[in-house]
Amino acid sequence: MIQKTPVMRKCISCRTTFDRKNLLKVTNDQKLGIVLNQGMGRSAYICKSKKCYTDSKLPKKLQKALKSIINPDFFDIFEREIANYK
Ligand SMILES: [Zn+2]
Repeated sequence: MIQKTPVMRKCISCRTTFDRKNLLKVTNDQKLGIVLNQGMGRSAYICKSKKCYTDSKLPKKLQKALKSIINPDFFDIFEREIANYK
């Protein structure tokens, strides 16, 4: 039996480490720009606890983590995604 080691990543809001599967991934993709749960490149992770994905400082934290200005359109997509978790 092959044991899979979960890939652990840290939430940029609460700084807790989680299995990557349980996190929202935001990637600064060279071609696509800032994307949610897709793309390749520098990534930041946010856990699925309400206080994290609704953190008012999240846009700033994301910009800092991704070293990029985030288009407001991204937050529309993000909000649509997190609406599934509420
Ligand atoms: Zn968190």
